[in-house]
This record gives sequence, structure tokens and C-alpha cells, in this order.
Amino acid sequence: MSTTTLYPGSFDPITCGHVDIVQRGLKVFDEVRIAVAINLKKQPLFSVAERVEMISALFVDEPRVRVVTFEGLLVDYARRQGISTVLRGLRAVSDFEFEFQLASMNRRLTDEVDFIFMMTGEDHYFVSSSLVREVAAHGGDISGLVPKSIQARLIERFKQS
Ligand code: ADP
Repeated sequence: MSTTTLYPGSFDPITCGHVDIVQRGLKVFDEVRIAVAINLKKQPLFSVAERVEMISALFVDEPRVRVVTFEGLLVDYARRQGISTVLRGLRAVSDFEFEFQLASMNRRLTDEVDFIFMMTGEDHYFVSSSLVREVAAHGGDISGLVPKSIQARLIERFKQS
């Protein structure tokens, strides 16, 4: 039986830290399904469609990665898709508290979906989408923090504004 895990997040934009977690996930699961959250409350830098397109292009040669979108409760989406694990990345202790809360709340909602945590590589523990956006907005060097194609998109986006 093949195994699929759901890797949810905003990915605004996807960073090398996210890619690291996807690659680690592929060592354990047959498929990693990246689920871009549709969050109408947040004002994103890249639209959901842009994020899906950017992530899909990154993994075009990896058939074991699929990119989807979801709205509403993550565990409901996972259950509807017949997926029983959710993959999350941990950077530092500071992530733990939030992730612990999130996983506990989701466990209260259902016992059919379990959360799996993977620690990021040492090069990525300080990388977050929000910091990358901030640095890029001010023309700082973001090479190595995001894949090259994403770096180009960020530079282009901030040139326009
Ligand atoms: P959210 O909007 O839920 O914070 P993100 O897109 O920021 O989602 O991240 C999705 C998941 O990836 C979360 O589990 C987050 O902890 C993890 N993550 C984010 N950045 C990194 C990184 N640099 N290394 C490892 N995991 C990361």
C-alpha cells in the first residue's frame, strides 16, 4: 500500500526550508502532497494560483510530489482525501509551542489524522517566508534561502511595487 502525507502551509513563497522538509518527507512517504492553504484573511504576496504554479514548477521532475489547495479545516480535507498523516517542519523550540497547540487541537477534532514532525537541516532553521519577503522587499540578498526560480519571482514582484 502506498503512503501519502499532506504538507500544509501558506508557502508565500516556498523557501529552501520547505523544500528540505519535502525532501525529507519523500524518504519516508511514497507521496508528499503539498497543500497550499487558502486563507482569505491574510493578504498574501503571491496569489494561491501563483504559489501553486511556482511550487509545481519546482517539483516538475518529481512525480511523487503533488500540489493542491485547501480551504477550511485541514483535518477535514485530509479525511476527505483518505490521508491519515500531516507533515510539519520544526525549526526551533519556538515552532514547537505553536505546532504542539495546532496538533493538539487537531487531535481533539479527529483521531483519524496524525501529525508527523521533521526537523529542518541546520542551514534552514532561521528561514521563514515572512523574513524572506522582508529582506527581498528591501533589496537584500536572499540567494540560498529560496530556490533560484523563486528568488527571480521575488525580485520581479518587488520591482513592480
Ligand atoms: P504557516 O502559514 O502554517 O506558518 P508556512 O508556509 O510558514 O505555514 O510553513 C508550513 C510548514 O513548514 C510549517 O510546519 C512550518 O513550521 C514549516 N517550515 C517553515 N519554514 C521552515 C524551515 N525553514 N524549515 C523547516 N520547516 C519550515
